[in-house]
Amino acid sequence: MPIFGAHLSISSGYDELFASADRIDCEAVQIFAKNQRQWESAPLAVSSTAVFKNSRKESNVKYMNVHSSYLLNLVTMNDEIYNKSISSLIDDMKRASILGIEDTVVHPGSHLGAGDTLGILRISEAINFIFSKEKQGNILLETTAGQGTSIGWKFDHLRDIISKVKQKDRIFVCYDTCHTFAAGYDIRTKSDYEKTMNEFDKIVGFSKLKLFHINDSKNEFNTRKDRHEFLGRGYIGIDAFGYLVNDSRFENTPMILEVPGEAEDFKKEIQNLKRLMKKK
Ligand SMILES: [Zn+2]
Ligand SMILES: [Zn+2]
Repeated sequence: MPIFGAHLSISSGYDELFASADRIDCEAVQIFAKNQRQWESAPLAVSSTAVFKNSRKESNVKYMNVHSSYLLNLVTMNDEIYNKSISSLIDDMKRASILGIEDTVVHPGSHLGAGDTLGILRISEAINFIFSKEKQGNILLETTAGQGTSIGWKFDHLRDIISKVKQKDRIFVCYDTCHTFAAGYDIRTKSDYEKTMNEFDKIVGFSKLKLFHINDSKNEFNTRKDRHEFLGRGYIGIDAFGYLVNDSRFENTPMILEVPGEAEDFKKEIQNLKRLMKKK
């Protein structure tokens, strides 16, 4: 069975984070390791690290990842933003490593007119630098919706970035169902689903697919807009998620919900996903 879970807030502390993960049957948990809308945050306290480790041990959580700050842009030609983004991602990876988390998800960023080729070069250089400074942990490039001049909405972008990264065993992809749908990869029918997945496998490769963000989309197909919706209530529709959770290729892959809502909502979504599985 895929490892189902959700993005959960750490604002009530780590003990509450794991207690609520258990209450809503989240076996996979994504967190922000610091305030995602600020460049700087206070370092992790030793005491809260201990709380984290103890609470996690007692919980049913099997997989965790950090989502990096929304401010990051590793593609930009603006050196100030670029360097701040690199430092912020290194800081996220350090926090992840202190907490015993391997994977940090990042949205590549926008080239703001410089073009895809330069943008791809820029981010791959950033990742090579980051891996030379921070020796632990993986970076997961997230598929994006393709808003504005963002990179990462085409599978080719991800392949090209990965091909330029030296430490290949530390670079992976997080596939967001809302973003890819908005970017023009359809999964609404079984045949579209298979076509898109085969394309991903051919271009990027399933060996690089480490995590799913499972979100429906508030916007129609190919609109290049990023707005998440509860599963089955958006333009993707529930069938697609049925194909996904029953796909034996992703049997052990974590699938994380990123929908605005309360813990109870996530619980219902996870129950729905499990119900879809039984329909097999
Ligand atoms: Zn996502
Ligand atoms: Zn999104």
